[in-house]
Amino acid sequence: MESEVASLSFARVLMEGIKEMVFVVRVDGVNSFTYDFLNNAVIERTSLVSASVGKKLKEVHSTSMTTFLTERYNEVVQTTQSISYEDSFYCNQNKLLYSKTVMTPFLDEKGICTHIVSLVKDITNEKIAKLESEGIRERLEESNARYRSLFDNNADAIFTVDFNGHITGGNSSGSILSGCAMKELAGKSFFDFVIAEDVERAKNYFHLSILGDNKDWRFSISNKSGKLIACLVKFIPISVKNNIPGFYMIVKDMTELDKISGLYEAGEENFRIIAENVHDVIILMDQDKQYLYMSPSCENIFGFRAEGIIGKKPFYNVHSEDTSVAEQAFNQAAKEGSTFQLQIRLLHKSRGWIWTEVSGMPVFGEDQKFNRMVMVARDISIQKEYESQLHHFAYFDSLTELPNRRYFQAYATEKLEQNDTSQRNLAILLIDIDDFKDINDQWGHEIGDAVIQEFGYRLHRCMVGENMAARLGGDEFIVLLTDAADKEKVSEVTDAIYRVTKEPINVQELSLYITISMGVALAPTEKTSISTIMKRADMAMYKAKQLEKNSFFVSPT
Ligand code: GH3
Ligand code: MG
Repeated sequence: MESEVASLSFARVLMEGIKEMVFVVRVDGVNSFTYDFLNNAVIERTSLVSASVGKKLKEVHSTSMTTFLTERYNEVVQTTQSISYEDSFYCNQNKLLYSKTVMTPFLDEKGICTHIVSLVKDITNEKIAKLESEGIRERLEESNARYRSLFDNNADAIFTVDFNGHITGGNSSGSILSGCAMKELAGKSFFDFVIAEDVERAKNYFHLSILGDNKDWRFSISNKSGKLIACLVKFIPISVKNNIPGFYMIVKDMTELDKISGLYEAGEENFRIIAENVHDVIILMDQDKQYLYMSPSCENIFGFRAEGIIGKKPFYNVHSEDTSVAEQAFNQAAKEGSTFQLQIRLLHKSRGWIWTEVSGMPVFGEDQKFNRMVMVARDISIQKEYESQLHHFAYFDSLTELPNRRYFQAYATEKLEQNDTSQRNLAILLIDIDDFKDINDQWGHEIGDAVIQEFGYRLHRCMVGENMAARLGGDEFIVLLTDAADKEKVSEVTDAIYRVTKEPINVQELSLYITISMGVALAPTEKTSISTIMKRADMAMYKAKQLEKNSFFVSPT
């Protein structure tokens, strides 16, 4: 618990600089998650406060929010895969913000999800740019010309519609898509454009959207010149001073994506994967690993334009240490018809190598022969950074930067296993500062911390060769000696420890003196475990304290 609190303070420092909201929940079990960490951005923008850390979801959220989040967290735990979704929420200033959330599992050595890291990116500006409607646009001042141009030049068609589905405005992509000038469109029902067999479904979707279901829907329209266009449509309520005068209808022309999906003989399932991942980079390779296609989002994620990809060497943008694993995954998936997911470093034009998650899905032709690989790439550098920090917290004490109990046990166990039982030469020293509570009581916790830190540093300096000092917690430290067969070597280290302990510790204006009690346990010749030796060292240390503080006691073997 103590090291958890310490590691969180370390995490806090780390996360201060990140503008995206970062939530870390601990997985307590099915349907139970506790906030382990929230960065500043979360506290500034949401109803959560610092005191929400350590609380369960249901203690800080409404029932509906708890259910919503629990369902998503459960999905991450069960699949041990990242998920992402877009959402909107009212921030502390009562402003509607749009967000994109990526939830990533943090797995322990056994592959069990112990924590989930959620990164929530504010995409309000992008959304606003998309959503500026004709009516609202009129009221924009000249200084907002940037939004106007984004609205006008948006590749997606945007219409504004009333509650009956009548068109009240739209952007130029909307005119192009429908083949009608805005004047012609005004007052027309958009259902008039929907192809006959999709009308019922489209009406149903619109109704669901009015009820608050903000999904993307698929249906086709026929434009003025009779061209059939497959569309992905989303309705978003227009909010003007808490009134909803109608909806933005965002229509994505899916012709291009449908064409990509047609590039290979793929079924519904593969198309779904592509459509869902369209914000990520989609890469198509043929059976000889020649690039066929890379989606335009490549420029957003990797800084390169997608057009240059054709003719490039296979995996030319993969870090040299990761190419063989990428090749292997490709070959295996092609051979066995299985999918793969890799975390590898890909080249970014200006940022250099960035950690990327690449999912691959092989596609087979009618002759059952492998002929295409569809890959979806996503930038996970922020999550990666956080994972490596979590890894660090798991093994190091953040106050002294010394290894913690877990690290020490793993290291000492390894050394014990390498050690020949007929000639034991391992010893464990357990060290506890005497009357440390008095320092805290007299000078305060902060001074106490500085003393622990300085003692830890001095102890570390006494380590030679493969010896290791670690902090067990509180004022308790442990040392592994790997050269203990030689009694002189042992006393060299213990003498050095006593010598550095005698030196005054200067903190702020104070000069403090400490003493320590030490328990020594040597590894026995029979088969044993590190925890048994640690227990004996601990008992020896208590014996020393009982007999006389500022002394040491050697455990009988
Ligand atoms: P003893 O001689 O028997 O060892 O007495 P002691 O006063 O040193 O007490 P003990 O070792 O049992 O307890 C250590 C105390 O250190 C308990 C706690 O109040 C305090 N402590 C534990 N962790 C920290 C920490 O991270 N920082 C500070 N400043 N104090 C800590
Ligand atoms: Mg003590």
